[in-house]
Amino acid sequence: MVKEWMQKLVSNKLSFETVMFWGILGSSWLATLVSGIYSATENISRIAVFGCFVTCIFFTILGTIAYFTQKYRTCYFVMCLGLCTFIICPLFFYFGGFHCGMLLYCMASIFICALYSHFRGRLIIVTYAVALFEFLFEYAWEHPELSTPVSPDYTIRDIMMSFAILSGLIFVIVSYLLNAYHRERAKKDELIQKLNFFSTHDPLTGLFNRRYFIEYLKGTILKKRKHFYVLMYDVDYFKKLNDSYGHLFGDKVLAKIGAIARSFCLLPEEIAVRYGGEEFIQVIVAENDEKAFAKAEAFRNSIASISLDENPHAEVHISGGLVNCADPQFETHDKILSSVDALLYLAKTRGRNQIVQKA
Ligand code: GH3
Ligand code: MG
Ligand code: MG
Repeated sequence: MVKEWMQKLVSNKLSFETVMFWGILGSSWLATLVSGIYSATENISRIAVFGCFVTCIFFTILGTIAYFTQKYRTCYFVMCLGLCTFIICPLFFYFGGFHCGMLLYCMASIFICALYSHFRGRLIIVTYAVALFEFLFEYAWEHPELSTPVSPDYTIRDIMMSFAILSGLIFVIVSYLLNAYHRERAKKDELIQKLNFFSTHDPLTGLFNRRYFIEYLKGTILKKRKHFYVLMYDVDYFKKLNDSYGHLFGDKVLAKIGAIARSFCLLPEEIAVRYGGEEFIQVIVAENDEKAFAKAEAFRNSIASISLDENPHAEVHISGGLVNCADPQFETHDKILSSVDALLYLAKTRGRNQIVQKA
């Protein structure tokens, strides 16, 4: 069971509340046990020793209830109330009032109450604990005879020991909280990065998606126009390829086309896009129509030489249409798209595996 818990703790499968509950309960249990043994050896009031062991029993019972009911939030609330009311207050008098380390324990209890996960509950227990301790100090000050008389030697040693124990406790809790915070933050950053990527990219090919392309067309291409060409292409007989070799193989072909398309984006303003299904767009930047056509042809030939190990004889080729965006008849982005689409259709009707450029 302990091994299972340790595995859950290491792999962050335990909730924050569970870890906090067991961490604080365990360390408080250990602290009261050590204090009880220490008090017994130091010959302090028998009631103080008794109080320590009763506290240990209280924590043990609470831990057992939490383990079986799994209601960690409620148990944490009860632990805080019990800790402040029935443990810290009596022990304050038993250990020597203001002449021992109990003031430090009061402060640590406020810290523990402040870790309760729900704001309203946190406000209630912290307010309660602060009011209770203020009353305790006032009462102990007015009735010094109620505190166990202790030697100055005991005072300094008790303060030193309490200080060491509570420093360790604070160190462990703060380290855990900071680690959890940084872990969550790293996870969130990674998620945001992924969301940003997939809002503009296609997951199968890694190319830009249609939405990004339309923005690019309107925001960059239509503003600059000169030297920009749009090549729209579609894989020939792709349905047959899927039917003959399987959908998974079809996906591999699309991913391979994506890799080649990316490798053809050699200039900063050239982008490769998966427009939808087996239809793609390549934004080409070239000095004139001939050079743009030569680039498109080189690309088509590169696709035609695709050979995948699973089915080396599967033929992959594309048909495409190419337009010069500087053409003054393209007033809007829709006109570019409809014109390039018509050219693509023409390439299909002319026998496929070719690029048709606007005359
Ligand atoms: P054409 O030469 O006229 O373009 O013929 P085609 O078979 O390529 O065209 P059609 O439009 O009839 O078929 C396109 C096929 O592409 C149908 C569809 O199942 C397939 N397809 C679309 N998206 C994907 C995808 O992401 N993965 C796979 N494997 N197939 C896809
Ligand atoms: Mg097709
Ligand atoms: Mg198609």
